[in-house]
Amino acid sequence: MSKMEQINCTTVVSPLHADQKIEETAEGRMVIRNVVDKEQQGKFDEWYNGKAYKITTASETRIGKPMNWDSRKSAQCWKFFSQGAMETDGRPVVRCLICGEVLTHGSLYGPTTMKTHLKSVGHMKKATEMIHGLEGGGKQPTEEEVLGYLKRSGMDGMVV
Ligand SMILES: [Zn+2]
Repeated sequence: MSKMEQINCTTVVSPLHADQKIEETAEGRMVIRNVVDKEQQGKFDEWYNGKAYKITTASETRIGKPMNWDSRKSAQCWKFFSQGAMETDGRPVVRCLICGEVLTHGSLYGPTTMKTHLKSVGHMKKATEMIHGLEGGGKQPTEEEVLGYLKRSGMDGMVV
């Protein structure tokens, strides 16, 4: 005897708009949220909300905290990062404009990780190379010098 079981399988489709900017990172494909274009931001938010990513954190105060992409970003560290979410699961992340490292999003998890990253050995090495060239010998640039370089290169981080 065979029993036919009807499985009602509803797939929630969250199509990624073709015009969103995607970057390959060490952690997979990241969808970048546009810094200034409201229409692009709206499309990103629509896609992100469809992902329904659930924030996991050990911090009691942050459990269930909704993502606010436009939250006020007062710390200077935001200028060094782009923000977005991983394409597969919608995990909110930031990406360093200098070395490309992907970090947890400061709006949800606090900006400490981002600030610490800007002083890390790997990041400073890359920043020094960008400013002084691969030959080395240059001294480590200040945050202001790196920001100046990013601005000249047209690589703006999040507006602070
Ligand atoms: Zn970096």
